[in-house]
Amino acid sequence: MLIHCNIRIKGIVQGVGFRPFIYRLATTLNLKGFILNTDDGVFIEIEGEKKRIKKFVEIIKKEPPPLAIIDNIIAEFQSRLKNYKKFTIKKSITTGVHHTLVSPDIALCDECLKELFDKNNRRFFYFGINCINCGPRFTIIKDLPYDRKNTSMNKFNMCSDCNNEYHNPLNRRYHSQPNCCSICGPNLFLYDNRKNQIKFRNSCELFTKIAQLINRGKIIAIKGIGGYHLVCDAENTNVVKELRKRKRRKHKPFAIMSKNIESIKKFCYLSVFEERLLKSRERPILLLRWKENDKIISKQVAPYLKYLGVMLPYTGTHYLLFNYVNKNLIFTSGNLSEEPIVFRDEEVFDRLGRIADYILTYNRTIVMNNDDSVLMEFRRFPYIIRRSRGFVPKPVITHKTKHKILGLGAQLKNCFALYFENKVIISQHIGDLENFETFIHFKNSLKHFCHLFSFKPDIVAYDLHPEYIITKYINEIVPVETRRVGVQHHFAHLVSCLLDNNIKDREEKFIGIAFDGVGYGDDGNLWGGEFFVFNSKEYKRVAHLKYTKMPGAEMAIKEPVRMCISYLYELYGDDILKKILFRSDKIENILYLIKNNINTPLTSSVGRLFDGVSALLRICSMADYEGEPAVLLENIISYKKIIDKCYNFCIEENDGKYIVNYNPIFEAIITDLEKKEDKESISIKFHNTIIEIILEISRLIRDKDNINKVALSGGVFQNRYLLHKTVEKLEKDKFKVLFHREIPTNDGGISAGQVIIAS
Ligand code: ZN
Ligand code: ZN
Ligand code: FE
Repeated sequence: MLIHCNIRIKGIVQGVGFRPFIYRLATTLNLKGFILNTDDGVFIEIEGEKKRIKKFVEIIKKEPPPLAIIDNIIAEFQSRLKNYKKFTIKKSITTGVHHTLVSPDIALCDECLKELFDKNNRRFFYFGINCINCGPRFTIIKDLPYDRKNTSMNKFNMCSDCNNEYHNPLNRRYHSQPNCCSICGPNLFLYDNRKNQIKFRNSCELFTKIAQLINRGKIIAIKGIGGYHLVCDAENTNVVKELRKRKRRKHKPFAIMSKNIESIKKFCYLSVFEERLLKSRERPILLLRWKENDKIISKQVAPYLKYLGVMLPYTGTHYLLFNYVNKNLIFTSGNLSEEPIVFRDEEVFDRLGRIADYILTYNRTIVMNNDDSVLMEFRRFPYIIRRSRGFVPKPVITHKTKHKILGLGAQLKNCFALYFENKVIISQHIGDLENFETFIHFKNSLKHFCHLFSFKPDIVAYDLHPEYIITKYINEIVPVETRRVGVQHHFAHLVSCLLDNNIKDREEKFIGIAFDGVGYGDDGNLWGGEFFVFNSKEYKRVAHLKYTKMPGAEMAIKEPVRMCISYLYELYGDDILKKILFRSDKIENILYLIKNNINTPLTSSVGRLFDGVSALLRICSMADYEGEPAVLLENIISYKKIIDKCYNFCIEENDGKYIVNYNPIFEAIITDLEKKEDKESISIKFHNTIIEIILEISRLIRDKDNINKVALSGGVFQNRYLLHKTVEKLEKDKFKVLFHREIPTNDGGISAGQVIIAS
C-alpha cells in the first residue's frame, strides 16, 4: 500500500548537498514527491511504501551528507495521496523569517584537489575550485535561504558547463551555490602596493611570479576565505624581522603554512592525533612542539617559544602557491597589530599597502571576515584557543530557551553569542575591543548575525566591568528597552565550561576553578584566582587568591615587574629594597603608588601571579602581548626534568572563605634564586604549587559540600603543563574533571557562558 508523508528537517541542511542527497536517496528507494529549502530547513513530501519511507527517514538520520547537522526531523504520515510521478527538487519558498543554520567554511576536499592538478580537467589550476562538500560558505552568505542569489557569487553567471553540473542531480556540484570555473567565476589579480596591476597570462605564470617574489624576500597580502593573510618566507629571518617591524609586532608568534604533513615533520613533532587535526576539514592552526634543533624555520617566527602554530593549505590558491614555492610560509592575519583582519577589497591598499609589497586578490566579496582558528591537542581531542573559520557559525546545542539572548562577551578576544531555541551560536573571533575599528567591526558583525538568523534579542547579557567598551556603550548596541543582565566574568567562564561539556541540568552543583588575567568581581576588585561552588543559575565564591595591589592598574599588565614589586612588598614591606635582586629605576615610583594607594586596584588574579614570578625570574619584565610573561614562564619547562616538588603556601580562613596566601612562594623563590637554582626548576616548582593549591582547595570544598565534579576555565588553562598535570592529579584523587573542548577556555568563551546564565 502506498502512503504519503510530510517531512520537516531542521539543522545545517542548506548548502551542504542535502537536496541532491535526498534526491538520490528517494530515487534509489523508488519514492516520489519533492524537496525544497524553506526558511527554517527543508521540507519534503514523499510517497511510496511505508516500509521504504521509514528506511528513507532512517538513512537521513544515520548517514546524512558529511557537512550536514540534523537538529530535528518531524515526519507526518497521511493516507491521502497526491500521486506524484517522480521525485523533484522545487524552488525555495521564503517568508523572510529565517531560522535555518549556516555551514562553516570548509577546506578544499580531496576530489577537488585531484581536479585542480588534473591537466584534463576544466578546472585545472583554477584557484576558485569548490564543490558541494567544500569551499566558502559562512563568509560569502549575505542572506538566507542559502541560494546563489543570496551569496556574493550572485554577480557571476554560470557558464553552460557549470550550469549543466548545477542541474545534474548525479553531479557533485548539483545545486552547489558557489559553483564556478575560470570562465564564469572569480579571477585572481596581482598588484604592487601602489595599485599598479601586474599582468599575467595564466595561473602558471602568476604563481611562478609570486614564488619569485617570495624567494626574493617580499611580503604579499593574499586574499583567503575570511580575509587577507600576510605571507612571506618563514625561513628567511630578514623578511620575518621586516614583517615584525611593518606590522608593529615585536614578539607575538606568527602562524605558518606548510606544504604537507611530511614537510611539517621536518621541524615539528607530530602525533597521529595532531596529524588528524591538521588535516580536518576545519583546517585550523595547530600548536605543535617545535624541534629544538630545527634549522629550517626562522627563530623570529616565534621568538623564545617551544611551540609553533602550523596549518596546511586549505584553498586552491594555497595549493597552487605551494606547487611553486618550496618554502614554509608565514600566513598571518592581514592587519596592523591589534586591528581587525582586513577583508574588504576597498580597504586593502590603505590598510595593508604599507605592510605588503604586493597584493594578490580576487573579485568575489568576502561578506564576513573570519580569522583562522587556533587549537591544540589535549587528550587526543581539539582544545580550541581561537574558535573561528571552520567552526563558526556551527551551533552548540543545549537546553531550550523561550528567549532570544545576546551575550556581548569580553573586552579581549571578543566573540559575541546568540542563544535561541536550543542553539548557542558563537560569532567569529572579533578581537580585542581596545580600539575604535574593532568596536565598529563588532557592531557590523553583530548586525550581520542578527540579520542572518532573524534575531532580535529580548535579553542582553554583558560583563560587569564598567570600563569594557561594550558595557559602557551598551545603548549603542541594543535598544534601551531590551532587558539587561550583568554577568560576573568568572561565572561566565565556568558556565561556558558546563555548556562545552553538554551539562543541561541547571541544578547540580560543581566546584568551579576560574584562573585568568583579570575580570571584574562583585566586590569591585579584579578577580582571577577564583574557586566557586556553582551551577548555571548561581554561584558562591568559596575561595580565592589573596588580594594584591596592581600598581598602575592596566600598566601592571603591560609591565609585569610592577606586579613583582607588589608581591615582594607584601612579603618584605619596607625591607624590600634590601631583598630585591634586580634594579629598576622604576622601583621607587612603583613603591610610591603602592604605599599611597594611588591607582592600585586590588586583584586576586593567578595570571598576575604568573606575571610577578616571570618578572622575578627576569624571564619577562615587559609584556609585548597579552599573557606573554606566563607563556614564557611555561616555555622554559623542557619536559626533560621531572620535578615533583612544590613550594609552600598557606590557606587562611576568613569570613567562611578560604584565602590562599602566596607569600611563602615568593620567599622560597628568592631563596632558590640566592642558591642559584636554575630558572627551569623554579618554574616547574611554581607550576606544581599552583596545581597543589587547586588540589588542596578542591579537597576542602569536597569535604565540606560533598561535591566531586570540578570545572576548569579561564585563560590560565591554556598553559599545557598546568592543564595536563591539574587534570591528571585531580583525576588521581577521584575527582571528575570538566575541561574545555570546543569553546575557548580564554575570554573567547565568555559570551557563551553569559547567554546560558541569562536564560
Ligand atoms: Zn570539493
Ligand atoms: Zn563555469
Ligand atoms: Fe577571563
